[in-house]
Parts: sequence; structure tokens; C-alpha cells
Amino acid sequence: MSAAQLERLQEQMQRLRLFKSRERLEAVLQEATAKEATYADFLDTLLAEEVASKTAKHVTMRTHLARFPFVKSLETFDFSYQPSLDKKQIQTLSSCHFIEHGENVVFLGPPGVGKSHLAVGLGLKAIEHGYRVLFATAAGLITALTKAAAEGRLDERLKIYTVPRLLIIDEIGYLPIDRAGANLFFQLISRRYERGPMILTSNQSFGSWGDVFGDRVIATAILDRVLHHAITINIRGNSYRLKDKLKAGLVKPVEATTT
Ligand code: ADP
Ligand code: MG
Repeated sequence: MSAAQLERLQEQMQRLRLFKSRERLEAVLQEATAKEATYADFLDTLLAEEVASKTAKHVTMRTHLARFPFVKSLETFDFSYQPSLDKKQIQTLSSCHFIEHGENVVFLGPPGVGKSHLAVGLGLKAIEHGYRVLFATAAGLITALTKAAAEGRLDERLKIYTVPRLLIIDEIGYLPIDRAGANLFFQLISRRYERGPMILTSNQSFGSWGDVFGDRVIATAILDRVLHHAITINIRGNSYRLKDKLKAGLVKPVEATTT
């Protein structure tokens, strides 16, 4: 192949936005020649690299857009530390069928047991499966909705939370929510109800959500919709943040303190 032809091919790949192919063309051509590969094998190799590169870019972009507080995968989660968790159940969830079926996932448990980590890990899996994901804390979400309502842009703001296929709402119950906030939260839940799956996390049992939302009626209406199609996972264990202290015997494990 002439240098002019190589250059022309690279230019065309550039115009077609096949950037990885452009970068790898020369090397893959040489490898194919050396191995006496078929035309089909050559194309197979080149396109596989292009697709892998585009997929990786997509995942990076969507991970950025998801606004995770940290990026930690399920693969880095130590299930042996949290025996109350069913590893198989989390693995099943990581296949993202719950998203396809429009089911919610609720993680309940005390601070530090890995609720946010699991929510982020599942969010990353959803991104790998091609879904758009958005992460928010309950407090951040209510602040944003309150501000938008005051500025007459509530509808616009609600759309931001309804468009992503998966919405993660972290830390329900850490901060008290006033009635106006609870109402806005309810509006969002109603909009997503039976349309968009969510992952919710809370340090408060469902029975305490009346106090969290400052209104038993609104809390019941929220729970009614959230739990209609939902998988609830109760984590009863020690905070991972205390791992080293537990090992050193500086604090007592949960099992010992509750019996
Ligand atoms: P929660 O949201 O339940 O308060 P986090 O998910 O924020 O807890 O966990 C606290 C910290 O400990 C995070 O840095 C998290 O990655 C880590 N962590 C918690 N549980 C595990 C675990 N079983 N394996 C690995 N890291 C964990
Ligand atoms: Mg958390």
C-alpha cells in the first residue's frame, strides 16, 4: 500500500470519526499481512478496537454525568465483611434486570455499612449496560427542587431527575425534611412511579419515614409508590469505617452490642 493511500484512508477514518481505527490502521494492517489474515479477520480486529474505544469513552462520559460522590465498583466491595448481605442477590441486581422491569432497590442500614458504595456500584453497572444514571442525595435533591420552585422552574428541574433511566437517591433520613420539601419529594416520586426505576438508601427503617418527612400521610404516599415494585435489602452489620478499630478490639461488633 502506498503512503498516499494510507494517508487517504486515515483522513476518511477521521471524517467518519473512527478515531481508534485511524490510530491503529497501520499497525493492524502490518499484523494482518504478517499473519496472512483474511480480509474479514482484519476488519474484525479493527472494528472491535473501534467499538471498545467508543464504549469506554461513553462509559467515562456517562460516569461523569451521573455525579457520583465517588467511583467504586461492586468488584471492590468486600462481601465477607458484611455477612447479612446476600452476594448472589447483589450479583443478580448487577445484571440490571431490575431496571428493565422498572423495579426500585432500597438499601436500609446504619451508617458505614456500604449503602452508598453498593448504590454507586450498581449505578456503574447500569452505565456499562448503556443506561443513563443520575446520583443525588435526598438533601441535595430537595434543596434543588425548592430553589427551582421558588424560581418558577420546578417542572424543568423535575425533568432533570426523571429523564435518566436510573435515579439514585442517597441518604434519606440523615437530615430532617420539612413539609414543603416532602411535598416536592413526593412530586418527584410520583413522576418516576412505574416509569423510572430508582435506588434509594436510608439509615431509617420504613416505619420512621413519617418522622423523616415530618408528615405521616406524605411518607405513606411516598412509600406506597416506592415499594409497589421494589426489592428491599436490609444490611445489619458493622460500619466498614470501624473495620480497623474492630480488628484492634477498640469497639464491640454489632452482634455483641445488640444481644
Ligand atoms: P453508607 O452509605 O452505608 O454509610 P458507604 O457506602 O459510604 O456507607 O461506606 C463507607 C466507606 O466504606 C466507603 O468508602 C465504602 O467504599 C467503604 N465500604 C463500606 N462497606 C464496604 C465493604 N463491604 N467492602 C469494601 N468497602 C466498603
Ligand atoms: Mg452513604
